[in-house]
Amino acid sequence: MTDGEMFEALWARAKAEGLNHACYFGGYPPHEEGLEGRFDPDPWRNGTGPQIWLYRVPCPEPRDEPVVDGPYVSRELRVFAHEYGHFRSWVEQSNGATRTWQAYFQAGTLLGKSPGSLSGDQKQLIMMEEERAWDIARDVLSEIGFSNWQELKSHREHALGIYREKMGMDGSGRDA
Ligand SMILES: [Zn+2]
Repeated sequence: MTDGEMFEALWARAKAEGLNHACYFGGYPPHEEGLEGRFDPDPWRNGTGPQIWLYRVPCPEPRDEPVVDGPYVSRELRVFAHEYGHFRSWVEQSNGATRTWQAYFQAGTLLGKSPGSLSGDQKQLIMMEEERAWDIARDVLSEIGFSNWQELKSHREHALGIYREKMGMDGSGRDA
């Protein structure tokens, strides 16, 4: 399968597994390589359900279909697979009802607002969830025929590095 075909297949699979909505989102410059997606179990806090957003400026139209050709397809396949990983992690943790997910989600919200006030445990929870999402991405990509593992590994390392940097951790995961 081409990257575009895998992207389309994974997008459809996420929807079939209960993702309420997947779409592009244009209003979020500047791009940060490795951080161009978002999973939220209920972005509007009104019970709508889980969504995956891919950030791209300008925003493609239609917003709610994967763009399966052009220069960004392999990157967006990796980003989408990672966000799918968060989605599956949420599903596997009883749709976010476990204490671990709740604690993680609280930490993630704090990361967006006030990263300096995260505790060491909260930083670990965030890193563990990020790594789990990349592990799930690897597994699902493997299932659908992906083979560019070096590219996925660099993307993963880069994205995890951005989290460590934002949270003031060194490469070992300890507080710097
Ligand atoms: Zn993530």
